[in-house]
Amino acid sequence: MTREEFLGSLLGVAALPLTACSQPTAPGGVTGQPTAPGDVSGQGEQGPTGPRLIPEPDPNPAAPEIQKTEAEWRALLSEAAYSVLFQGRTEPPGYSPLANEYGAGTYLCAACFLPLFDSTTKYDSATGWPSFWEPIATKRVAYSTDDSLGFPRTEYHCSRCGGHQGHVFTDGPPPTGLRYCNNGLSLDFVPQGQPIPALRN
Ligand SMILES: [Zn+2]
Repeated sequence: MTREEFLGSLLGVAALPLTACSQPTAPGGVTGQPTAPGDVSGQGEQGPTGPRLIPEPDPNPAAPEIQKTEAEWRALLSEAAYSVLFQGRTEPPGYSPLANEYGAGTYLCAACFLPLFDSTTKYDSATGWPSFWEPIATKRVAYSTDDSLGFPRTEYHCSRCGGHQGHVFTDGPPPTGLRYCNNGLSLDFVPQGQPIPALRN
């Protein structure tokens, strides 16, 4: 895969379903543009103890540490997982049992097994997608801008393999105010007490 093809797949320029990860329905039934606090552009005023801004997309993203051919990834992943992780698609809401998983444990990138989220940061966003307010470490995920729905959203992906995870919004709970809306197909859950598999190379 060339760099251009890889970046194209990251940005989801291939056909996207209409069920792309979006805002939960507000009490008034209004969906679409994110609302307070903050905005998706990262502009606006936030105090040092207030909600965080969505991290800015990296204008010069580094090549993923793990790079496999399409055939190599397809041999390791289900067709559905491949389409989300490496073609930027979005599973339908309520599709993944991980949306309702609240046991203690660790959520790994389903492609390369990098631990991305801890269960202590998971919460019920009522969207039908697994939702978190913070990754395990800042640099576990990287960001890019996704304009595929006609307005900018911040897409995030595994920083190690580039696998698409989801989109981040500013309507999450304290302490960050962020909502990492993740595809369940992009995650593997390892319950606490069970061994976390070695990173896939
Ligand atoms: Zn990964």
